[in-house]
Amino acid sequence: MDLQVVEQVATLGEWIGEGGVVVLSGAGLSTDSGIPDYRGPSGSARRSTPMTYQTFTRDPIARRRYWARSHLGWHTIGQARPNEGHLAVARLQRRGALDGIVTQNVDGLHQAAGARDVVELHGNLTRITCLACGASTPRDHMAARLDAANPAFAGVAVAFNADGDAELAGTSLDGFTVVDCLDCGGMLKPDVVYFGETVPADRVARAFELVESCRTLLVLGSSLTVMSGRRFVLRAAKRGIRVAIVNRGVTRGEPYASLLIDAPLGIVLPHLADLSPV
Ligand SMILES: [Zn+2]
Repeated sequence: MDLQVVEQVATLGEWIGEGGVVVLSGAGLSTDSGIPDYRGPSGSARRSTPMTYQTFTRDPIARRRYWARSHLGWHTIGQARPNEGHLAVARLQRRGALDGIVTQNVDGLHQAAGARDVVELHGNLTRITCLACGASTPRDHMAARLDAANPAFAGVAVAFNADGDAELAGTSLDGFTVVDCLDCGGMLKPDVVYFGETVPADRVARAFELVESCRTLLVLGSSLTVMSGRRFVLRAAKRGIRVAIVNRGVTRGEPYASLLIDAPLGIVLPHLADLSPV
């Protein structure tokens, strides 16, 4: 870390020492785990149109193709492990330094690192939900059922999107067999918020409640491009709450930030956790 970053991290360490910190994390926290940030500087631009809730539920062919791509993408995303950044956040939480964690990520890596009570704004790809009966089941079960239903299906995922969708090379997707809910036969969907869907109101309310009652909003790895995350920064700024951002590259939160650290999260966060005994 250069001297400026060392000084910035020291300042942030002092703020964390004061308590009342809420983390808002984005895709940039998970890139070191091999999950691409399709908006950030390290990610390639998304190549396909994102799946919408309307298309998923109304178009059986699009749904089948989505499941084929997503299933192959899962073989990579399902293997992802928490990185130094996730582990540092979990350490800070265990010490009582954090009042809450709100994430825009759907990879479940905060919890895999040991964090608890994470508000997952956009859901979690590691869970499957039944749109008819509401049953929630692990993604690994779904993956095993899809493998069994598609013994001859093989493809090579060549690119991944942050929602677990994937691009395939040289594979016909139309022969893929989709499976339904074992309890009721209803349609299954990854438990994530698609384009065209709104984040459940109770989740948004919980996130605002955390943000409004904190002393420092700590944004980790989010360019704040989409309003779904940026609105929390706007609310904090409006209330005079300190906003600190650790992010690689440009962020739209810059005008609201009291502190902006442009450095790798995998270096800054472990350092910060070491600095901040509570
Ligand atoms: Zn069901």
